[in-house]
Amino acid sequence: MSLVRERRQTRQISIGKVKIGSDAPISVQSMTNTRTQDVKATVSQILALEKAGCEIIRVAVPDMEAALAIEKIKQQIAIPIIADIHFDFRLALASAKAGADALRINPGNIGEEKKIKAVVDCAKDHGISIRIGVNAGSLEKEIEQRLGITPEAMVESALRNIKILEDLNFHAIKVSLKASDVSRTVKAYRLLATKTNVPFHVGVTEAGGLYAGITKSAIGIGMLLAEGLGDTIRVSLTRDPVEEIRTGFEILRALGIRRRGPELISCPTCGRCKIDLFKIAEEAEKALLERSSKIKVAIMGCVVNGPGEAKEADIGIAGGDGMGILFKKGKVIRKVDQDKLVDQLLGEIDNMTENSEDLNDKKE
Ligand code: SF4
Repeated sequence: MSLVRERRQTRQISIGKVKIGSDAPISVQSMTNTRTQDVKATVSQILALEKAGCEIIRVAVPDMEAALAIEKIKQQIAIPIIADIHFDFRLALASAKAGADALRINPGNIGEEKKIKAVVDCAKDHGISIRIGVNAGSLEKEIEQRLGITPEAMVESALRNIKILEDLNFHAIKVSLKASDVSRTVKAYRLLATKTNVPFHVGVTEAGGLYAGITKSAIGIGMLLAEGLGDTIRVSLTRDPVEEIRTGFEILRALGIRRRGPELISCPTCGRCKIDLFKIAEEAEKALLERSSKIKVAIMGCVVNGPGEAKEADIGIAGGDGMGILFKKGKVIRKVDQDKLVDQLLGEIDNMTENSEDLNDKKE
């Protein structure tokens, strides 16, 4: 029986060429941490993210210069771009004109109705969608006073913002409900799922540094995805955003939802290990990020248990004394010196990729 429940039925929206919701693959996105006005730095970060598999990118738009920069950024990247705006409706209009594929803005924060209408009309004219981003840390005062910083308050805020847009006959909406703790985040999405068919952007916000962030995201996003909730995900880490993309795909892979690139399994080592396995595994992991074939690679510390423990791997290394063996599907191919192990492993992987009938590749 699958670990993941049937996916929640939602409406479908588009962010550029990427579809969100319904039967579209659950997409992985990130946000740049460069100054958006610095086009060169922002484009370079986005290109690195694209290489890591990022499917949608969001940029902060704190001022008009950042909004205008979107035009130049878009010319140099391949993935759709979302403009993240707070309060100032003029920045939303300028971002849409500059080519943003979606806006992240909470209509309730814009103020007067005519300003909200101007943003909605502009989004309609440009055929772009809007993400309502409810954040537990910045709820409407009146809702917070009445309900506290609770999942119920987050859901009420989301529904209020959805209604503002739908009353203006705008339906290309997705919603995020983020808190910095797993419990409120999960409860809020569960509750909102009973009240709307708007697709969900799922994440745990301000999750923390690498260990706390990955753990909270894996549990929070993982629980929701396992319940069939979530149409696009963003892992938040106080790190290079490329790490967010890697983590996002690992969460999807662990749940058997999507696979991207090779899967690396490696042993923790024990007293039987006589090679520098940590270094070998690290080098291999880095090199595998650049490869797209969906094979399973094992890096094991010893020949005694290695190939046996990693029988299901397509290819792998098992360490000996200062050397190692390369094995395919549990069968030894040859012995290799420690220093050449990673290079030869990669060579074999690239050969297998060319003859892809070797691979137990499965479609997403
Ligand atoms: S593969 Fe070998 S070195 Fe690694 S944990 Fe198992 S027994 Fe120990």
